[in-house]
Amino acid sequence: MGQIPGRNEIANMPFSKSDLKSLLDYLDRPNPPVCTHTFKETLEFLSEKNLDQSKVLPWLQENGAGCDCEVIFNVDDAWGEFVGRVYIDEDSEDIVVKPKESKPWWKFW
Ligand SMILES: [Zn+2]
Repeated sequence: MGQIPGRNEIANMPFSKSDLKSLLDYLDRPNPPVCTHTFKETLEFLSEKNLDQSKVLPWLQENGAGCDCEVIFNVDDAWGEFVGRVYIDEDSEDIVVKPKESKPWWKFW
């Protein structure tokens, strides 16, 4: 799994932690439509939330996402833990919360 983002990455986020979490939760919802290899779902979410897609889309692309399914694939890997996403383990019915890193991100070591 990805590392916790550094302070510069966090400072450069184009939207809030909770908005990013909502976006990931939205794209990763049960039975999503098949990805059309565009940002269709992402754009719907951004316009509903009144977020600036001209800032968010380049940021998603910098984080390795070229379409909706790659947001889940690449952005969630790097940022999911940081924004507090909860993951369901498909082999069991239990909710799995990823273990915390031993070093808190806000401390400068
Ligand atoms: Zn895709």
